[in-house]
Amino acid sequence: MDSLKPYDVVVIGAGVNGCCAAYHLAREGYKVAVVEKGIIAGEASGRNAGGVRQNGRSRTELPVAMNAIGQWMRFRDEFGGEFEYVQKGNLVVGYTDKQHQDMAKDAQRQRDQGLEIEHITDKKVIRELVPALTDQAICVNYVASDGKAQPFKATWFVAKLAKQHGATFHTFTEVTKLVREGDAISGVETTRGLIPTRSVIAASGPWTISLLKDIGVKLPMLVRRTQACVTAPMPHFIDPWITSGTIWVHQTVSGNVMIGGGGPWEPLSFTKESSLLSLQRFSRRAQQVLSGLKTARLLRGWGGCLDVTPDFQLIVDKIKGVEGLVVSVGTCGHGFALGPAVGQACAEMATGRKPSVPVEGLSVDRFASDMDFETTYKAMPEPL
Ligand SMILES: Cc1cc2nc3c(=O)[nH]c(=O)nc-3n(C[C@H](O)[C@H](O)[C@H](O)COP(=O)(O)OP(=O)(O)OC[C@H]3O[C@@H](n4cnc5c(N)ncnc54)[C@H](O)[C@@H]3O)c2cc1C
Repeated sequence: MDSLKPYDVVVIGAGVNGCCAAYHLAREGYKVAVVEKGIIAGEASGRNAGGVRQNGRSRTELPVAMNAIGQWMRFRDEFGGEFEYVQKGNLVVGYTDKQHQDMAKDAQRQRDQGLEIEHITDKKVIRELVPALTDQAICVNYVASDGKAQPFKATWFVAKLAKQHGATFHTFTEVTKLVREGDAISGVETTRGLIPTRSVIAASGPWTISLLKDIGVKLPMLVRRTQACVTAPMPHFIDPWITSGTIWVHQTVSGNVMIGGGGPWEPLSFTKESSLLSLQRFSRRAQQVLSGLKTARLLRGWGGCLDVTPDFQLIVDKIKGVEGLVVSVGTCGHGFALGPAVGQACAEMATGRKPSVPVEGLSVDRFASDMDFETTYKAMPEPL
């Protein structure tokens, strides 16, 4: 096999995580190559809904999300990034007394962690935030600094920054094998030849499962579809992002209303097809949440592949026993927003530093090494 130029770090995957890691590495002067089997943001990072939220994050993910928001703002405000990033708030809706109690408690926990979040029960105030919200809503958790972006443009923007700092992108190039010398990484085999390196960041989404399996590392992860759909542009009537149970709704800068969500009913496979059942469900559920959608015209639906972990949180860690291998995976359908912070942590870990972003709770060790996740998953009544 031909040998290509060596790099300090090779990043596998040009999704948001890979591009952000490459940006941080290149900015610090490391020689970095991103190897991508397709195009930049061709998978989940270009197919997602662009929600950039802190609201409702777990205790572990919240500080990572707070760090990421600061970076997205910098990309927009300092570096002139035009990726439709607007901070018009994120709102989780509750309909029952039990939800009201749970949400009030969760809002307090997030406040204790430093987030500016409101738990609102005054219907007049709720109405002011979203006049179209149906009357059944009795409370909301609201974070004003949250927002949304156009994920394809956002990921391409970060890739452009990375390139400006000297990162190389090999698109349409697949990593077929991680190469080891003893217990350490010595390179990656690709469809264009061998790239020598002592450090690899696998930001390769659900495909990471097989890449690591080939070197004897089992990740507790499954691949599952999630779906979304979009209407034709409508006059502007929704400002914040809205989450209600297992669906979310928001209106893009161009006026299209986007609806989506996923759950355990989705197949555990790499399929990205849109299903009629989901489109019907989105349409029915969205109309329970918001009035004003009756005349909406559905334009299209699509799916994307998620890498799901047992606790529905990311894995950002060095792999023990394989020196030089860092993974950034398991984003479980909410990883676009976290990209800049996760990318920074990975860049630091891949170059022998302690991550400045608090990712210690996202280590792979939190799962038992002999865990049979597929069996556990199928036995779960309703994962999150
Ligand atoms: C419909 C939908 C809606 C979503 N909504 C949101 C949202 O609103 N907010 C949010 O925060 N998140 C959302 N998500 C989740 C978000 O898209 C993902 O968490 C995030 O994009 C994951 O980024 P990534 O870089 O880890 O992975 P990916 O974007 O999957 O990138 C991995 C890349 O690795 C490449 N690759 C894989 N194997 C190889 C190989 N062997 N060689 C070379 N390249 C390889 C792939 O081609 C791919 O481009 C949503 C996802 C979907 C599908």
